[in-house]
Amino acid sequence: MTQSSDQHREAARRMVEKQLVARGISSPRVLEAMQTVPREMFMADTWRDEAYADCAAPIDCGQTISQPYIVALMTEALHLDGSEKVLEIGTGSGYQAAILSRLAREVVSIERHAELSQQAEKILNQLGCANVHLLVGDGTQGAPAHAPFDRIIITAAAERVPPPLVEQLADGGRMVIPLGVDDHQLLQVLHKRGDQLDREVLTPCRFVPLIEEGRQG
Ligand code: SAM
Repeated sequence: MTQSSDQHREAARRMVEKQLVARGISSPRVLEAMQTVPREMFMADTWRDEAYADCAAPIDCGQTISQPYIVALMTEALHLDGSEKVLEIGTGSGYQAAILSRLAREVVSIERHAELSQQAEKILNQLGCANVHLLVGDGTQGAPAHAPFDRIIITAAAERVPPPLVEQLADGGRMVIPLGVDDHQLLQVLHKRGDQLDREVLTPCRFVPLIEEGRQG
């Protein structure tokens, strides 16, 4: 049975309380965005009633929309105050971009599957996310024309930190990135200070791989 909008809002409220606040997400701005962005709009039809379940879900092109808790954790780790230009690698459904749109000044999001990017664009337009710019291509190269970025978020698992992304991160900026392969991934925050990158490990995680087109060695 298809749930009504009121049922979705109630499910979102319970998700915030039981999956986010209970696990330590405390930023009021992040909690507000997670409560109000309609995750059901980004889900495949057959998954819509599970929009606020505590899990990732399949989307087209063999990809996934991330678990709400992981979206909130990554977003909180970016420390956004509304003034930032953010780069996201891996637009996927567009849900994370919609959350960022509420919390940052400008969002540039790159996806390698044009089909996903087009679907995400439609939903983001419906939601009035006018500060999100979608690009299609290899996100490991970043978006030099839009750089530097105050924050970078990578929503696919990388074997290494792509060097162009470090270059395009502003001094003092933060990057949130899952590093590793398969069952051995750690969600990390990198803080750029001059030539130095300080690392903080947040949690083990499981993301689809970040594809590095034409990587040499
Ligand atoms: N942020 C998404 C959301 O809110 O639905 C979830 C992203 S999904 C876990 C990871 C996405 O990264 C996939 O859509 C995949 O196609 C994309 N991806 C993988 N490698 C990429 C690359 N090199 N450049 C751009 N996108 C990439």
